[in-house]
Amino acid sequence: MSGYYENSLIATSLLLQKVKATYWHKWLRKDLEIWNESGSVERHLSAYAGCPGSFDDLVILSINGHKIDSEYEYQVNLVFYWLRILCYFFATTKKKRINFKTLLEEFSVENLVLSKAKKEAELFIGPYKLANFKTEISGERCLDCGYAIIPDNKIDQFILDNIIPSWVLWASVNNRLIDLVNRILQWQRTELDELKQEICDCIRRSSIEIRGSMWSKKCPQCKSKDHAVYRWKLRSSKKSRFFPVKNNIKLNF
Ligand SMILES: [Zn+2]
Repeated sequence: MSGYYENSLIATSLLLQKVKATYWHKWLRKDLEIWNESGSVERHLSAYAGCPGSFDDLVILSINGHKIDSEYEYQVNLVFYWLRILCYFFATTKKKRINFKTLLEEFSVENLVLSKAKKEAELFIGPYKLANFKTEISGERCLDCGYAIIPDNKIDQFILDNIIPSWVLWASVNNRLIDLVNRILQWQRTELDELKQEICDCIRRSSIEIRGSMWSKKCPQCKSKDHAVYRWKLRSSKKSRFFPVKNNIKLNF
């Protein structure tokens, strides 16, 4: 797994360098040096302590002093999350055969990288099929009257949550992680506008309103203060709709 491990470290370290997460950029450069000298992954694995201040605790945000515009934070952190998963996986796996299919299976990731995109080798290009969008979308619901909203930024996050994982896995086995890092740092997602429109139609069809943000205190429809975070999943058909997931909080009526 040596090439995959090294490439994942290089790409992650590049990302950290570009956003000026200097401490962890230097840490990974040292991990790379050690790997090239002795083939040891011990120091790298010691960074994943799961506690505040450890590598898996790092979030790339402008308020944390990183060089990043807030509009790119979600997509960059999502890619960073998957890069970290790959670094750890390639440092520890005993698997002999690694390819796109085995990685999708390993991480239970839905494949959204279509053959057209593979052929053109253009990262993040669609078209995407809604049937493959399996993650939850979250919003807010009034527990007294059922009025529901999904904020606009949650729609973007829903799209990214679905398409980013398979792209990172695809890039890792096709030696494209560096391209992916460079692209994600300035990807304006304009090619997703049509897809977003389609998802907005599904939301409205499901009697959910799209708003700029969550509401603050009172339900805009019945003035109740009893509301909660609520989650839905897309059920795809000719007229796709969002349906509540089972473990939502119960409505009062
Ligand atoms: Zn209400």
